[in-house]
Amino acid sequence: MIRHTNYRTAAPNTTTGSDWTQHGNCADVDLDVMFPGTKPRDIAAAQAVCAGCPVTDECLSEALRIEGNVMADRRHGVFGGLTGKQRRRVYEELERRRKAAV
Ligand code: SF4
Repeated sequence: MIRHTNYRTAAPNTTTGSDWTQHGNCADVDLDVMFPGTKPRDIAAAQAVCAGCPVTDECLSEALRIEGNVMADRRHGVFGGLTGKQRRRVYEELERRRKAAV
């Protein structure tokens, strides 16, 4: 499981020193909602929390920043509106583009 800055929000750990995690829609949501397992209904519930979140960009950026360090079996939770598998696909696509640009 990803470690969090605190346990009041599901947003991933941050190294920016910003308190944006406190402004996420998930700040007052039970963490179990944001770590939904594999049931589509539960995943949709977590993604519904992310929908319209005012710090989605910060959250997804942070999740993708640490994605390269996250082993597959630790890729839990919905962050930035994406599941772990979805984040991995975005991460891999961004890495592919980054390497192609070099
Ligand atoms: S995008 Fe989702 S996980 Fe990230 S802070 Fe907002 S509600 Fe929480």
